Amino acid sequence: MLLPRFDFHEPASIDEACEIMATFGPKAKLLAGGTDLMVNMKKKILAPENLVCLSKIESMHGITEKGDQIVIGGRYTVAELTTDPLVEKKLGALRSGARALGSPLVRNRATIAGNIGSARPASDLPPSLIAYGATVILVSSKGEREVLLGNFFKGPGFTELRPEEVLTEIRVPTPTDGQGAGYINLGVRKAQDCNVVNVASYIELDEKDGSIKKARIVMGSVGPTPLRAGTAESVLLGQKPDEALFLKAGEAARQDCTPIDDFRGSASYRKAMVGVLTKRTLDIAHRQASGA
Ligand SMILES: Cc1cc2nc3c(=O)[nH]c(=O)nc-3n(C[C@H](O)[C@H](O)[C@H](O)COP(=O)(O)OP(=O)(O)OC[C@H]3O[C@@H](n4cnc5c(N)ncnc54)[C@H](O)[C@@H]3O)c2cc1C
Repeated sequence: MLLPRFDFHEPASIDEACEIMATFGPKAKLLAGGTDLMVNMKKKILAPENLVCLSKIESMHGITEKGDQIVIGGRYTVAELTTDPLVEKKLGALRSGARALGSPLVRNRATIAGNIGSARPASDLPPSLIAYGATVILVSSKGEREVLLGNFFKGPGFTELRPEEVLTEIRVPTPTDGQGAGYINLGVRKAQDCNVVNVASYIELDEKDGSIKKARIVMGSVGPTPLRAGTAESVLLGQKPDEALFLKAGEAARQDCTPIDDFRGSASYRKAMVGVLTKRTLDIAHRQASGA
């Protein structure tokens, strides 16, 4: 399969990338690892006239703790997320998503911003990032804006990103004592497969009485974008965490999603698995939050 013809741009800075994007707008596409974009170009689903490769922009690579946030550069690869000590210590649910993504070959090229930018409903990284309350920084030659990742996705392949913008970094509030999150994905095969269901849960415990003060449950592959399980979250709020409560939340989450039937699984199977994964990810989140 041949690629369609395109002009190749290789900016060395975010400013330069923004200038190129401002010049070509919808006729240009940002290229990170290419594991999603190149496949779509080879299949002739996309044929951008200009490719703007981000691989020379050093400032978009790396991870740091700044104040009460962990800041991850858009070019940080999925493989790097799986081995990073800060991610391992503080963002276990994101690490689980990274470890579940594709194969070693894919993880070595795929980037965190590319995973978000592809806006696939079954992607492995957005659910935990949304559950942690992450924001994304979108930069253009007119300035920058910070958008809650939970408000970023508009539909399969569609996002809040404007044609001239670059997603430069992801900011995740650093989890502290009393907070925890878990992520589990389920596919037909154990690896190299699109998820049938994937769920991330985050909880924060009240330090005085141990009740649940904050909860975010995010379901992937069961709607056009990652979905918050609002009813399940309200089941948890103000309650003392235990097995029965998490089962009840799992039951509520099933009602919060709108899956479809396809060759990977029926809508009813997906709903049932949303219940199971919600309960299990809440168990993980609770173990972390209570320091068990
Ligand atoms: C064999 C195979 C297996 C896969 N398995 C999985 C899997 O298990 N789970 C999963 O979630 N995904 C999977 N994928 C999909 C893909 O690998 C991931 O979504 C990956 O993270 C995409 O990142 P990338 O850097 O390669 O993005 P690219 O392909 O370079 O870009 C993807 C999209 O994001 C945009 N983009 C890239 N960087 C930016 C930026 N900084 N700012 C704004 N927009 C940007 C691009 O313009 C493009 O629209 C798989 C792909 C393959 C080929």
